[in-house]
Amino acid sequence: MAREIGSAPALAGWRGEEVLPGPDIRDVEQLAAYLCKNLRTYSHYAGTCRIGIGGTAVADPELRVRGVSGLRVADASVMPAIVSANTNTNATVYAIAERAADLLRAHS
Ligand SMILES: Cc1cc2nc3c(=O)[nH]c(=O)nc-3n(C[C@H](O)[C@H](O)[C@H](O)COP(=O)(O)OP(=O)(O)OC[C@H]3O[C@@H](n4cnc5c(N)ncnc54)[C@H](O)[C@@H]3O)c2cc1C
Repeated sequence: MAREIGSAPALAGWRGEEVLPGPDIRDVEQLAAYLCKNLRTYSHYAGTCRIGIGGTAVADPELRVRGVSGLRVADASVMPAIVSANTNTNATVYAIAERAADLLRAHS
């Protein structure tokens, strides 16, 4: 479908050579094989070790793992829910790391 759209006469002035999957990949079998080899996840894993105060929270609001002394978690896993903009998990991880550094400094 992308090829069909891309080959429309109205786009001729902007069209260059097809890069991926490339002109050698033509029929459905070739396209399926290409996809099986090249697709990857675009998942933004978060919240598997979420902070909170309830019984199901793994870490407390100061990033300490409940029930394990001397262990904090500072990564995307502590997000209680994934941030609403899907491309901002990395920036949020930096904020969590800064917070963790402050907490560790305060307790050292
Ligand atoms: C394809 C893709 C594109 C993305 N694009 C963006 C984007 O444009 N903007 C954005 O904000 N976010 C983006 N993200 C999300 C962002 O990359 C993550 O949210 C962020 O990197 C999560 O940081 P983290 O520290 O929680 O995990 P990670 O960055 O995954 O760090 C985990 C670390 O733990 C290490 N590790 C794992 N197991 C062990 C072990 N047993 N012992 C020791 N070390 C271990 C790993 O090697 C890794 O270094 C993207 C993610 C993907 C997959």
